[in-house]
Amino acid sequence: MRKKIVAGNWKMNNNLDETKTLIKQIKKGVKKQIGDDTRVIIAPSFVNLNTAIKRTKKSEIEVAAQNMHQSKNGAYTGEVSADMLTSLGLNLVILGHSERREYFGETNELLAEKVTTALENNLETIFCFGEVLEDRKSENHFKVVDNQLKEGLFHLKKRDFSKIILAYEPVWAIGTGETASPEQVQEMHAFIRTTIANDYGGEVAEKISILYGGSVKPANAKEIFSKPDVDGGLIGGAALKADDFVAIIKSI
Ligand code: PEP
Repeated sequence: MRKKIVAGNWKMNNNLDETKTLIKQIKKGVKKQIGDDTRVIIAPSFVNLNTAIKRTKKSEIEVAAQNMHQSKNGAYTGEVSADMLTSLGLNLVILGHSERREYFGETNELLAEKVTTALENNLETIFCFGEVLEDRKSENHFKVVDNQLKEGLFHLKKRDFSKIILAYEPVWAIGTGETASPEQVQEMHAFIRTTIANDYGGEVAEKISILYGGSVKPANAKEIFSKPDVDGGLIGGAALKADDFVAIIKSI
């Protein structure tokens, strides 16, 4: 049975005090509310990870980093390595978010390297991918997603796939208020699972969690999460408001 996952990507939001407050509110909201079959993850900025880890200890909440450099260490000013993350006690990282791809030029090839580094360091990886609006309009979205998966992930050995969480995030639905319809989401998630089954076998495909991301809100979460191949969500804007984030968690 696949675990349900709700992950909040805080992006470049929340200073130290705001981080503490939001964690406190989320902790209160989810206390004794989540079963063993559900995971709740938050991804604050690098500078607040240490505080987040300390403040979520003994709670139901796990902490992820939003990014990581592919190299072990070295002269990469401003970057953060896998070892720096694990030394904080972290074991989760988000890679390939569309904002990293768009604003920081992260390619499938670079992401393949990052994924390898993350897994070598025992960092479970939330791997994001998804098509832009033009791809969807020109009905190229399946091809684009297929490419992102194959070039970014399919170098992995079968056993490493168990440390990957997929997050399908159509770029046209991120932060736009425009959500993919539950049918569009299910259609793509089923395609993703089949693509994985074709290369790695049905057992691997059945075990992998596939999250949807793109303007998930309390009002639409339940319907999206009810689809058979949707195992939860990666939440942006709504993860910054404790009430909304908790409501989304409860709707799973
Ligand atoms: C995201 O950035 O991953 C995201 C899904 O954002 P939002 O929920 O705001 O669309």
